Formats: sequence, C-alpha cells, structure tokens
Amino acid sequence: MTKIGFIGVGNMGSHMARNLIKAGHDVTVFDLSQEALDSIASDGATIATSASGAARYSNVIITMLPTGKHVDSVYRDEIIPYSQDGAIFIDCSTIDVETCRTVNALARTKGHSMLDAPVSGGVGGAEAATLTFMVGGEEASFRSVKDILCQMGKNIVYCGGSGTGQAAKVCNNMMLGIQMASVAEAFVLAERLGLEHQKLFDVASTSSGQCWSLTSYCPVPGPVPTSPANRDYEPGFATELMQKDMNLALNAAMGSGTTLDVAQASALLYQSYAQAGHTGKDFSGIVNLLRERTELL
Ligand code: NAD
Repeated sequence: MTKIGFIGVGNMGSHMARNLIKAGHDVTVFDLSQEALDSIASDGATIATSASGAARYSNVIITMLPTGKHVDSVYRDEIIPYSQDGAIFIDCSTIDVETCRTVNALARTKGHSMLDAPVSGGVGGAEAATLTFMVGGEEASFRSVKDILCQMGKNIVYCGGSGTGQAAKVCNNMMLGIQMASVAEAFVLAERLGLEHQKLFDVASTSSGQCWSLTSYCPVPGPVPTSPANRDYEPGFATELMQKDMNLALNAAMGSGTTLDVAQASALLYQSYAQAGHTGKDFSGIVNLLRERTELL
C-alpha cells in the first residue's frame, strides 16, 4: 500500500482517486472546492485541509489541476516545500511544456523526482480506469510508479524526458481539433451539394477520410448515436477545453519556431464558436458555426 496525496479532485481527478482507493491505497485528497471534497469523502478518502497537508504524509503526490498557472503555484508553494524526502510527483494536468519543465527542474533542485503524465480518454475513461497516460520524466521514476498508473489507465506510454508527455498530449489534441474542423466542413459542403449525412458517413467511414472525429464523434446527429450531436452538443469535450488545447499547441509552436497553418485556422473556428456563447457546448458543435457562416454568404 502506497500513501498517495491527490490534489485536484474535479471531473477527472475524483474518478482517478476513487480507482486508487479501490486498488487499496491510502489516499489523502485536497481540492479548493468543498463540494468536490464532500463527494469523495464517503468513498474512503482522507480529506486534508490544504495541498501541503496532503503532500506532507505521502510517498507519491498526484495533481489533476486546470492549467499551468495552478500547477506552478501548487508545486512551488505547497508541494515542493512540504514533501518528504524521496517523494515522487506525478502531474496529470494538461499544461504547457515550458511550465512543466520549469516546475520539474525546481522539484529536482529540491531532491524530488517529477513526471508529467497527462491523460486522454475523458471522464468516461477516468471512471472506467481506461485512460491513456503519456509520461515524461526520468525512466527510473516512471518504472517505480507504473503500477499506480495502471490502476487508473489501460495504455501507459513512456515518452522520454521531462515535458515529452505534455508534448504528446498537445500534438494529439491539436490533431483532434484539426480533424473535427475538417469533418464538420465536409458535412456542411455535403449539405450544399445535396448529399445526405448518412451517405457521406457510409462512404468516408470506410474510405480515406476515416478518422475518430467521424466514426466515434460524428458532428451531425444520426450516424453515430452516442456522439454529442445527438444530445444538442452537451459535452463530451467542452469547446473551452479544446480552445485551451489549441492555444497550448500554438504557443508551443511559437516557442519552438514551428509553423502551424492548419492548426491556426482551426483554432480561430473554436474561438469564434466560444465567442458566440458556446464555451460549454461540445467542440463538435462548430459544425453549426460553419453552417451559419455558409448560410450568410
Ligand atoms: P476540473 O475543473 O473539473 O477539476 C480541477 C479541480 O482542481 C477542481 O475541482 C478545482 O477546484 C481544483 N483546483 C483548482 N486549483 C486548485 C488548487 N490551487 N488547489 C487544489 N485544487 C485546486 O477539471 P478536469 O476536467 O478534472 O480537468 C483537469 C485537467 O485534466 C485539466 O488540465 C484538463 O485539461 C485535463 N483533461 C480533462 C479532460 C476532460 O475530459 N475533462 C480530459 C483529459 C484531460
């Protein structure tokens, strides 16, 4: 049994922490939200009164926080100064590579090992313990906590040194954002050309246009009954999260001198959809923005 501190038990973290409790670990949690803490207390978690309190007594500390800003301040002010010697840190949040590497270096100067381990698979994957983890950091530290990651996920990929887990996450989600924009544009063009949604789906899902955004997450109602399009674009994956991930990709491109023309154009679509009041709608709802724009022509 490992003593695990878990900080940030929101939509994703609550399920991940529950899976660790089910696996028999002694899990101490902290979140700024009392509601989040109340909902996990009855599942057997010990509740700490601060992030430093959760960190102080744990051998492994896991964070699942919204952004790089949160990760930087929680590690700098609460985790690093109060952790036991030899404690291993695992940050599962999706954040920028630069902040990730800065915090990792700070942890190392204080004698701690830190892994970036962002996830893919959404709230459903967190609940079912089927997440994909993409892990960056020292390989020996990765090996020492791999069993813990396996209790929250199904595919665990070691990507290389610090920041490479976040790099994998940012590249993957950039592909997703671009793919969805391309699939949504194809459906709008098909409508204008008099081609039924189902017919385009039947052809493209077995042809070279095939991709996850089409076959698992189709942006128009009908062809994939489980996709958010069938429930008025309730997320799923909210547009504001896609906007965050596209911005992470564009900032990473700027920092590394990379040209990303297609990602830039796609990011503008999510931004316009969000600005039209749809931040909380599923990102596949951009098909409606594209249709409205076409109708205005
Ligand atoms: P969330 O907002 O539901 O949870 C984040 C939690 O962190 C909240 O409960 C919040 O109160 C807490 N928090 C914020 N600042 C804190 C602090 N200083 N100390 C302690 N707790 C603090 O977000 P989420 O959906 O669980 O996502 C978490 C991370 O995982 C994000 O980086 C997100 O991009 C990433 N992610 C989300 C999904 C998804 O489908 N929701 C999928 C993959 C990755």
